[in-house]
Amino acid sequence: MSPTAVETSLAAPLLEVFASIQGEGLYVGEPQVFVRLRGCPLRCRWCDTPGSWKVDGAREVRVDARRGVRREPSWSTPFQAACWIAECEPGSPRTVSVTGGEPLLWPEFVRALASFASPRRIHLETGGAHPRSLERVLDVVSHVSLDLKLFEDMDEPVEIEATPLEPAPRTRAEWAEVRAECLALVRGRDAAAKVIVSGSRAPALFDELFEGVAEHAPELPLFIQPATAVGSVEAPGIELVTAVAERARALDLRVRVVPQIHRLLGIP
Ligand code: SF4
Repeated sequence: MSPTAVETSLAAPLLEVFASIQGEGLYVGEPQVFVRLRGCPLRCRWCDTPGSWKVDGAREVRVDARRGVRREPSWSTPFQAACWIAECEPGSPRTVSVTGGEPLLWPEFVRALASFASPRRIHLETGGAHPRSLERVLDVVSHVSLDLKLFEDMDEPVEIEATPLEPAPRTRAEWAEVRAECLALVRGRDAAAKVIVSGSRAPALFDELFEGVAEHAPELPLFIQPATAVGSVEAPGIELVTAVAERARALDLRVRVVPQIHRLLGIP
């Protein structure tokens, strides 16, 4: 059956669909299915999925189905993605983690996927740069994992022409604004914030992020995640991680220090 025009208009470029164990955040350890979308305008220096940044030339999605891995055309309708989710999950239906790249470049895809994948829970992992799109999907996602990023950890964003959306923030002031908006949007919901600590940062740099949480969503669980050493990215020492966590605790935030479990397990 070929997709309808409406379904086609909701298509988004996918990078991979696979089952694994959630390695980060509030649902760490939960077996889930991951739908990784292509496209991200941000350039986090410790990004562990730079292969997801670009949409141009996206040709294939890797589908790690129970019957074996295969490649399909990258641009996929939400219905097609939901079929692949069912093909990839062993056993009963799992929570679906929609990640990227930046899934909020494709809010209408996320909305429709939530419908087709029902009754599975949809968890959203976002870089926190697109509050309008976040607002658009909040009623269909069961959990939001919101990154809070140091301005010093990002290079200039590179906008993606295919996505008619709010541009990514570029200045420290713009970041402070979208961070406040995103935190206010997830306040009181099933959500958590994640802060990456890499090896070369002064603990005081993180105060701006923590003060934002304290002001806009003080009850939000806050995960401090040591960066995984990749390429030129240094992993932090435990002294630095502890010092950063203490600065958050000083503001009475709900701090947890958790490394990337999937890296420790050697799984995707
Ligand atoms: S937002 Fe995510 S995908 Fe985009 S650069 Fe940062 S870590 Fe990488």
